[in-house]
Amino acid sequence: LFISFEGIDGSGKSTQARRLAETLRAEGHEVVLTREPGGSPGAEEIRRLVLEGEADRWSAETELLLFTAARRDHLERTIRPALARGALVICDRYVDSTRVYQGVTRGDLRATVDALHELVIGQDPDLTLLIDIDPQEGLSRAVARAGGEQRFEDMGLAMQALMRGAFLDLAATAPQRFRVIDGAGDADTVAGRVRAALG
Ligand code: C5P
Repeated sequence: LFISFEGIDGSGKSTQARRLAETLRAEGHEVVLTREPGGSPGAEEIRRLVLEGEADRWSAETELLLFTAARRDHLERTIRPALARGALVICDRYVDSTRVYQGVTRGDLRATVDALHELVIGQDPDLTLLIDIDPQEGLSRAVARAGGEQRFEDMGLAMQALMRGAFLDLAATAPQRFRVIDGAGDADTVAGRVRAALG
């Protein structure tokens, strides 16, 4: 089973991915908890190339190709081997983040994201848990965690709201794959909702 977590910055998805991994391990499952961008040595290198450089170092198109290359490596080295031996894979961000970040907010590349996904990735999660949160709440959490890191300060509320809408639109187009989880409240409360959504 391949589960991805998605949501805007500060939604709590990384915390919830970790919590779900702990819960499922305690229930006796082998769980591989991984993340994107990254999740394999090569993909983590690409993550650094994109996220730690100058903001305008890459065009939106080049950034999409780099993240797609990272995903291909992650799939080959981490995700597929884990699924093949019967492990549960929990991934913090996957292709839906690319659809939103590179497809909608960074550039108008939605069709290209989908075409590349078909061409070189071809693996969708069985289940995608969208942690949905009020944009202001998410922004406040992200800024607090990053110690006022400029990237988040610059992003602003309008961008958070745009991304939230883009995630909710994706969920509406693939209701059998997505579960939208209310991300308001403390981590325990949200973890309970996540576990319940798995059935
Ligand atoms: O989830 P995480 O905090 O590790 O993501 C780090 C940043 O990577 C996000 O805040 C986002 O700006 C960026 N990102 C991106 N495109 C993606 C995934 C993440 O620009 N497809």
